Amino acid sequence: MANLPVMGGGELGDVGSRPPERANGAASPSRDDGIRPVPSVRARFAPGPRSIWKDVPDALWNDWHWQQRERITRLDQLEKVIHLTDEERRAVVETDAEFHMGITPYYAALMDPDDPSCPIRLQSVPTLGELTIAPADLEDPLAEERDMPVPGITHRYPDRVLFYTTHNCPVYCRHCTRKRKVSDPTTAAAKRQIEESLAYIAAHPEIRDVVISGGDPLSLSDDRLDYILGRLRAIPHIEIFRLGTRNIVTLPQRVTDDFVHMLRRHHPVFVNTHFNHPKECTAEAFEAARRLADAGCVIGNQMVLLKGVNDDPKIVKELNHKLLLMRIRPYYIYQCDLSKGISHFRTPVETGIRIIEHLRGHTSGLAVPHFVVDAPQGGGKIPVNPDYVVSHEGKRWVLRNYAGKEYEYLEP
Ligand code: SF4
Repeated sequence: MANLPVMGGGELGDVGSRPPERANGAASPSRDDGIRPVPSVRARFAPGPRSIWKDVPDALWNDWHWQQRERITRLDQLEKVIHLTDEERRAVVETDAEFHMGITPYYAALMDPDDPSCPIRLQSVPTLGELTIAPADLEDPLAEERDMPVPGITHRYPDRVLFYTTHNCPVYCRHCTRKRKVSDPTTAAAKRQIEESLAYIAAHPEIRDVVISGGDPLSLSDDRLDYILGRLRAIPHIEIFRLGTRNIVTLPQRVTDDFVHMLRRHHPVFVNTHFNHPKECTAEAFEAARRLADAGCVIGNQMVLLKGVNDDPKIVKELNHKLLLMRIRPYYIYQCDLSKGISHFRTPVETGIRIIEHLRGHTSGLAVPHFVVDAPQGGGKIPVNPDYVVSHEGKRWVLRNYAGKEYEYLEP
């Protein structure tokens, strides 16, 4: 892979060597005792552009509170960043009642101002497709509300639960599976709900794994997250947490040194993130992943297959190679689910199988995630794969490899 040119914001290596920022933008004493990737690896990731914010001082741009405050939530703000089509203009207004718009300056600056098919734009700017309700669409496609013993906890599988901590996210992804409640502050988890969720987990010794989700749990303050993780860690039967967050993609400035220092107190912490396109792999995202990995977090990526964004094996391969350089393991590719108003994003299941066929054997196994359909009505993740079994009779198996050659395997 060729080195990418340096774009704005100084030398690429500077992104990691600036003094660490505190949440309010002021420098904090360095606690960075991590291992730095070699500069030639870091240099493959170009800083994101600054668009209309090119004169904003670095201290503000790198302050996640500023990025949250300056989010684009209205049409007139968006018009200043990109050239909208008439359809997009209508969609911004007409979809608001169903699912609000919210885009951080950082993520908005990644959009191509002139191309409505830009993958960043498709994921964050409303389109009229959201107003089409397909016959298969469901309000709660994964039946998460049905398996909710107390508000804020989905408990479907014996040893693990999904714990909703907030309904806020830096960017409201137009393909969100939980758009029925995400972005709606009236349904957000209040303190009492969090306490009741913690009490439920404490009362169920069969739970060993907690997926902390939302919305995006990194929308909470470090102190609030520290409190929740500390309470969970104090429960003897809890073994691991998984933080489900898209902040590394849409607001990488959120991953401060203070934040990762807090996480270190609660290990083992797994982080599942959600990159969908190589364009999202910037120097800023690289730095966020670097901080998390150096702090000992294990990071996995859950890509959603989206028409027009990543339904192409070449794009997925490039994305997965970049993720591995960022120490993020491609974990799942999800078939786009049946959430209401996102049918324009759905691809045939065959597309996912074709992508796996193009990856398996053609690149490192580390770059080949599991392709799954999260079955409607709470059926769970079902892996779907190309068929490598040509025939099977008794103890004789005929298998084909990635190049289409057939091999016989005889069982003892
Ligand atoms: S970050 Fe996750 S929960 Fe939030 S809008 Fe995007 S997909 Fe939905």
